[in-house]
Order: sequence, then C-alpha cells, then structure tokens
Amino acid sequence: MGSLVSAEQVLRLNRRAALLGGLGLLVLPNTGTAATPSHSSGVWPRQLQVPGGIARLSLGPAAVRPVAHAGEVPLLVVGDVIDWTALVGVALAAEPGPASITVQTPDGAQRQVAYSVAAKRYSEQQLRVSPRSVDLSPEDLARHERERAQQQVVTASFSQPLPAALRMQVPVPGRRSSSFGLRRVFNGQARSPHSGMDIAAATGTPIAAPLPGRVLDTGDYFFNGQTVWLDHGGGLLSMVCHLSAIDVQVGDMLATGQRLGAVGATGRATGPHLHWGVMLNRAMVDPALFLAA
Ligand SMILES: [Zn+2]
Repeated sequence: MGSLVSAEQVLRLNRRAALLGGLGLLVLPNTGTAATPSHSSGVWPRQLQVPGGIARLSLGPAAVRPVAHAGEVPLLVVGDVIDWTALVGVALAAEPGPASITVQTPDGAQRQVAYSVAAKRYSEQQLRVSPRSVDLSPEDLARHERERAQQQVVTASFSQPLPAALRMQVPVPGRRSSSFGLRRVFNGQARSPHSGMDIAAATGTPIAAPLPGRVLDTGDYFFNGQTVWLDHGGGLLSMVCHLSAIDVQVGDMLATGQRLGAVGATGRATGPHLHWGVMLNRAMVDPALFLAA
C-alpha cells in the first residue's frame, strides 16, 4: 500500500504543478524544511507594517490570482491557488493607523482587506551645507520639478511578467548604512526623508542588478546624478543613483548579478557611494527588507 500512497501523492503534486503552470501563476520556490511553517518565509520580503515598510496581506485561496489595489495603484499579488498574498509597500509619508486595500474577484465582487500601519520614529539628521544646495536657484528648481514629473510617469510602471523571485542580491558589496527613513534637516529646514540605502564603495566599483529586470529609465538628474531604474515586474522597481558610468540602455533585459554601471558621486552626493532605492506600488520601501536576514 505504501507505494500506492506515494504514487497518489506524486499524482497530486503533478496535478498541482500542472494546474499552477497552466494558469501561468507565479510559483515561488519552496524553502522546504518541515520546521518552516510558511512556504513563503524564506523568499518573500520581510514584513514590517510601518511607513517605508511592507505589509503582507493574506487573500486566501482562489482559482485565479486576485486583482488588488491600494487606492488606484495596482498591487503585487503572489502565491498560488492555496493562498494568495498581497505585498503592499507602505509610503514613508503614510499616516500610522488603520489602512485597507481593495480586492476584486473574477465574479466582479469587491472586498476590503484591512491592516494597520504602526508608527515608526526614524532618527533625525541635522546637516550644515552650502546654502546654494538647499535654496535652489529658479533654474535648478525648474529642472528638478521637470525631472520629478518625468520620474513619476516612468515609475508608475506595472509590468508583466511578475517577478519570479523576491529576495534581492545587494548591488555592490560594502558597508551598508541603516539610513533608510532618516529625517534630514538641512540648515534648519526639513527636507524629504532618505528613501534608500547607502552603500560605501569606491568610484568605479561595478554595480549588479539585484533581481532580473528590464531597464526602465536612465538619465542624469539634479539630485540623483546618473541613475538607472530597473523594472522587476508587478510594480516592483529598483533604482541606483550617483553613478560614474551607465553601461545599459532603456529596454535591456538584465539577469541578477549582471553589471549595469559603476559607483560614483554624481548629482548631490558628498562622496562616492551607491544609493539604492526599492519601490513597490509607487512607495519607496526599505531595501533591507528584500535581503536575506
Ligand atoms: Zn542615499
């Protein structure tokens, strides 16, 4: 009877794999040990329900991948027919307290899935810099506003295929600052918080793609300097800034680890380092949540 049982199990597994494959669903690798209660714990970003963090919201079983939105913004939904999960990037500017997403099912029904955002007090950094780099000239301000509008259009991308993996490789080796979310005050004036991770590295250090992705945008921007945006699919993007060289063009498909440019100090940077940003559903979130703990 033992062999019958195992044959049945194999059949069931094959049917499940065929079902998932046939529907074109995202199947994340199983981390495999019996001690791991969730099949997802090793491959998904860590959950941290604070501004700048990620909420992982279970949507339950469904035959096809549910469609979910935060306001008008489409969300990345991963998992399989057994249990779908919406991964929600929480903006640094989000108010702590109750929040919700909207989930549509194929029969047209809509429901809200509630969650809560806990307060997080990021530390504050007081900086004294040349007044010219805080109070921009009208020309610099106009340039920055143009660039910001263009970047908002570019980063609204929600493309297919969805990412096949969600654990990222750090783009350059080096000492990583924990400065994500830092509230920066320049010459006594509050400015936007630090929305990425800074990694110490010398000018010329090769930068590798953290996940497979398509080059979405390249450019030389006022604050960010030479910048590359990668589109990993499903509203998950990453950006690298202050580069000394860009080795890719818009539309190039990169594999994890493939070189895209080199570290530099272009734009408003105090010295050579890599600024790495990760965006999920148009919110900049802490890149550290995507790295193995
Ligand atoms: Zn930075």
